[in-house]
Amino acid sequence: MKIAIIGAGIGGLTAAALLQEQEHEIEVFEQHGSVQELGAGIGIGGNVLSKLTGHDLAKGIKNEGQIIHAMQVLDNKGKTLSTATLKENTINLTLRRQTLLDVIKSYVEPTAIHTDHQVTRIDNDNDKVIVQFENKEQKAFDLCIGADGLHSKVRASVKSESKPIYQGYTVFRGLVQDVHLKDPHVAKEYWTKQGRVGVVPLINNEAYWFISVNAKENDEKFKAYAKPHLQARFNHLPEEVRKVLDKQEETGILLHDIYDLKPLKTFVYGRTLLLGDAAHATTPNLGQGAGQAMEDAIVLANCLKTYDFDNALSRYDSLRVAHTKKVIKKSRAIGKIAQSSNTIVIKVRDLISKVIPNKLISNQSKFIYKTKDK
Ligand SMILES: Cc1cc2nc3c(=O)[nH]c(=O)nc-3n(C[C@H](O)[C@H](O)[C@H](O)COP(=O)(O)OP(=O)(O)OC[C@H]3O[C@@H](n4cnc5c(N)ncnc54)[C@H](O)[C@@H]3O)c2cc1C
Repeated sequence: MKIAIIGAGIGGLTAAALLQEQEHEIEVFEQHGSVQELGAGIGIGGNVLSKLTGHDLAKGIKNEGQIIHAMQVLDNKGKTLSTATLKENTINLTLRRQTLLDVIKSYVEPTAIHTDHQVTRIDNDNDKVIVQFENKEQKAFDLCIGADGLHSKVRASVKSESKPIYQGYTVFRGLVQDVHLKDPHVAKEYWTKQGRVGVVPLINNEAYWFISVNAKENDEKFKAYAKPHLQARFNHLPEEVRKVLDKQEETGILLHDIYDLKPLKTFVYGRTLLLGDAAHATTPNLGQGAGQAMEDAIVLANCLKTYDFDNALSRYDSLRVAHTKKVIKKSRAIGKIAQSSNTIVIKVRDLISKVIPNKLISNQSKFIYKTKDK
């Protein structure tokens, strides 16, 4: 089958790697001049690697990742509010984003990836789907996979109603070297009145950090922030945080407003389907956006291998729409609690977090594993 994949991000390239294994004729179209990831580090949950068992890609990813055993939430004094141990018998990893993308890309035939190819629209007809490019060229395929991210042109072409919804906070991110964290297998988040600060270990004594602050959409005040502003805002946090921020270079700090999508009712529109952020962009609070994009790709490949074309698409739709809706809603709810800046709410929140047994907190994310892969 001739398949077009729009977007060479984590989702699109995972789909390309897995569908090439089935000997489909794949072409990936990427708008940029190279395959690149914006972002410092990324966490890939055990749900992804367990679904990739049996694929070489899983080995490639494991080789580059730092194993994470637990996620901790702490207050501004460094007191632990909760510890979620990650599900036993699963491998949870953190990687540099570009490393993850490079690993996935290495499993895709290089001639299948066309950079500098911006897609402007797609048109479904009964037997084919026509992909149109900015340079006015067009090409016909049997299936088109829209993996073109939050502001998807493919989603707009199929007239989906859903538009990105701003969630009220913006996130700074960076990557630091030569840090020797006390707990190199624990990801930490400090929840404070001024915002949330995350410190996440990577292999080779690297780490990535993020700072999530309440802000207006496109907030000029935060666009003007540089390293010293962040240091000043969080200089009351424990030494570990201060040390990590200190290691950050003056340049290279990323800033992104946080959006998600109202859950769509379907990801399949004739011979076109949506995958990854194009289908179900979520806030980063569960660390599952890229993981869910990869799961989409795995489920789609399994369905196309197991069922005939129409049944494969409808099975993909029913499995992925329902599951990712839960991820979006849960992640959005966590964001609302975690981003609170109201002193009373924070006191109550921190008190409740301390008394809830850790086991109950760990159980909160168990639904992520409870989904079928074909
Ligand atoms: C602050 C933050 C932290 C996060 N942390 C995590 C985490 O720890 N774990 C996790 O799993 N997820 C995390 N995520 C979410 C994750 O980054 C995304 O869910 C993931 O990158 C989505 O991958 P994708 O391939 O669907 O889309 P994208 O990565 O957006 O890729 C889309 C690709 O399509 C291309 N494209 C777009 N339009 C066109 C067009 N018209 N024609 C051709 N090409 C086009 C783009 O250039 C891009 O290369 C985080 C997100 C944020 C904002």
